[in-house]
Order: sequence, then C-alpha cells, then structure tokens
Amino acid sequence: MSKTIAILGSTGSIGRQTLDVAEQLGLNVAAITANSSVERMEEQARRFRPELAVLTDEAAARDLAIRLADTKTKVVGGFAGLMEAATIPQADTVVTAVVGMVGLRPTLAAIEAKKRIALANKETLVCAGQLVMDAADRCGAGIVPVDSEHSAIFQCLQGCRDRREIKRLILTCSGGPFYGMTYEEVGKMTRADALRHPNWTMGPKITVDCATLMNKGLEVIEAMRLYRLPLEQVSVVIHRQSIVHSLVEYRDGAVLAQLGTPDMRLPIRYAMTYPGRGVNPAEPLDLLNCPPLTFAPPDRETFPCLRLAEEAATEGGTACAVLNGANEEAVRLFLAERIGFHEIHRLVAKARDQVPVVQNPSLEDILAADAAARRSVLGK
Ligand code: NDP
Ligand code: MG
Repeated sequence: MSKTIAILGSTGSIGRQTLDVAEQLGLNVAAITANSSVERMEEQARRFRPELAVLTDEAAARDLAIRLADTKTKVVGGFAGLMEAATIPQADTVVTAVVGMVGLRPTLAAIEAKKRIALANKETLVCAGQLVMDAADRCGAGIVPVDSEHSAIFQCLQGCRDRREIKRLILTCSGGPFYGMTYEEVGKMTRADALRHPNWTMGPKITVDCATLMNKGLEVIEAMRLYRLPLEQVSVVIHRQSIVHSLVEYRDGAVLAQLGTPDMRLPIRYAMTYPGRGVNPAEPLDLLNCPPLTFAPPDRETFPCLRLAEEAATEGGTACAVLNGANEEAVRLFLAERIGFHEIHRLVAKARDQVPVVQNPSLEDILAADAAARRSVLGK
C-alpha cells in the first residue's frame, strides 16, 4: 500500500482523479507537476500541501512561485523539476500521469530511485518498454498499471504462478465515437466529433487516440511489454459498454475477467492499495441494471492505426517509438485543426516508411527514432 505519492501530471484527467483517490485513502502527496496550468496547480498545492510543485513551463513556474510565496511548498520550473519530483525521497510511489513521451526519463529516474510506479503514461512503455521493464527488474521497482485494461489483466493474473499457463490476454475496446461508420464517413469527422467519447472523460490526446483506435494499438504494445508476451497472445475485442475491462484466457480454457463501472478511480485506487483493496465510495456495478454486454471484432480497415501499431509491435526495436512519436505529432496537428482525421494514420505510415528501425535500441536510439518520426510528420 502506498503512503506518500508524487504525481507527474497532477492537473490532467488521471492526475486529478489520483488526487481524489489520495484524499479518500488519506495518502500524503509529496510532489505534484504539470506543464503550464498555474491556477489548477495553485489550488492543488493549497489543498494537498506538497513539499514540491513543478511547472515545466518556466514562466508559469515563476508565476506559481509568487502565488505560493505564503506556503511551505517549494516551486521548481523546467524539466529538471519533473526529474526532482520523480525521485523525491519522501514518496514511496510515483504516479506517471503526464501525457506523451516526455514521461520516459522521469519514469526511468523513478525506477532507479526504487519507487513503486503507478503507470498511466503508456507512451513510455510503448517507446521503451524493454528498457523500462529491464530497469524495473534490475532495481526491484514494482510497476502497477493504472490503464483500466492493464489493471484488469493485472488483477486477473493475481494467483497465476506460472506464466506459461496464460494462453492469451484479451483487451476490450469501446470502439470509440466512430464505431460502425464506414471509412469515408470517418474521414469527415472533426476535432469536436473525435473529442466526444461514449464512456470516458479523458485528456484530448488519448480521446483522439480512442477515436482512431491507436489507443488500443498502444495498449496492445503496453500489454506485450508489461506481461512479456508476443503479439499472438494479445488480442482485442470491441465491447461497447466498457464494463468488462479486460480478460485473461488460461490454457485450461478458463477465462477470467474484471468488471466494474467505467471510472478510472477504480484502477487508480487499486494501484495505490495493491496488494490490498480500498473502499469505493461511489455506486458499485449494478449487474441487474447494466446494459447487455456485447462483443465484436475490431475493424482494422476503417481504423488502420490499430493495424499499424500491431505491425510496429511485430517489427520491434525502435518501430514502436517511431509509431508513437509520429502519432503524437499527428494528433497535435489534428487537435490544432490543421489536418483531417485520416491524415493521422497516413502520417504515421509515412514515418514508418521513412525512419529506419534499429533493433535492441539504447535510450539514445529511442530518442533519435522519436525525433526522426516527428520530423517526418512535420515534413522537416
Ligand atoms: P491530460 O492531457 O488530461 O493531462 C496531462 C498532464 O500532463 C497534465 O498535468 C499536463 O499539464 C501534463 N503535461 C502535458 N504536457 C506536458 C509536458 N510537455 N511536460 C510536462 N507535463 C506535461 O492527460 P490524461 O490524464 O488523459 O492522460 C495522461 C496519461 O495517462 C496519458 O499517457 C494517457 O494515455 C494515460 N491514460 C489516461 C486515461 C484517462 O482516463 N485519462 C486512461 C488510461 C491511460 P498541463 O495541465 O499544465 O497541461
Ligand atoms: Mg485504457
């Protein structure tokens, strides 16, 4: 059970829900970080009294320091602040809830500092899964997933003593807001359409990833890395209701699933209380009043990002870093309304064709592949 936490990305969707859970469980909050959300940071710092508050945007950090001058909270700006929060001695657990590849170095630093990692920032595992998992093994740092599907699998694996007994992991996927549309119809969808997710309220980047199904592709890679399984043992099934959060099929034919209401505070709480369980103050799942549970295959023709991610996973090496870097930039352009919806998968495919893959990559190789993929998308 965690006692004192540091939250990287405390002002985001996962960060704010983690603070709710921390308050409910009575956890101490040693450090909080964000990019530039000054007002939200001031409010969080006054409410949770952390030792350290970080804004990576230097000008925003100067503003925050003035606002918090009457408190004991130390304010640090820049990327160095993010690294300081990731390794703050007071925290036993670091919640990685920043969005994007920027979370990689802080996650590695927290692992080196032997923290328990409550991992939401899936992009780090996608880009550098091998490095992150090897570092965690070497340092004895436990990684507990926050992503609802991976938390479900983690829970279904409790009591599994021999990994060879796992036949496959089954990730459920809501299908996103454009489920059932044709490729042509999906191509006309705008930023506002993509930001309307049927079941979850999340940050803008992951919401767009859910609409393209890239999120599920990233999650397939995340599952392969977390549980050290090949692509053949990770499958995806569309489940519109987001009540079955994922499943594990064992070799004897038993299929274990974890169910719950679609509320990220459940997997966040489990990551905090693991190996125990805390109390959920919200309404539990009411089986008699939930909609019928349905399952269907994903449509990789209409949503090519899922296929692109699976192909990158098969290729290995820096292919997943290229996929992720290209996707981050393409989604940024889509959110800025500079490209259409289908340009996202086209730009990711273009980066894949342009950037050579390095096998058994070092951290430098991964960072270089990420940068090259971003340049490819931006046409530089
Ligand atoms: P949000 O966009 O809501 O929040 C992102 C957080 O990261 C904010 O605190 C933001 O600060 C900070 N941040 C953004 N860019 C930078 C940067 N360059 N440097 C430092 N900090 C930065 O994202 P979510 O909470 O939705 O997602 C966070 C992660 O969790 C993602 O990797 C996502 O895939 C994963 N995840 C999210 C789920 C969800 O339900 N939201 C579910 C499962 C996984 P600021 O406010 O100042 O911009
Ligand atoms: Mg998920």
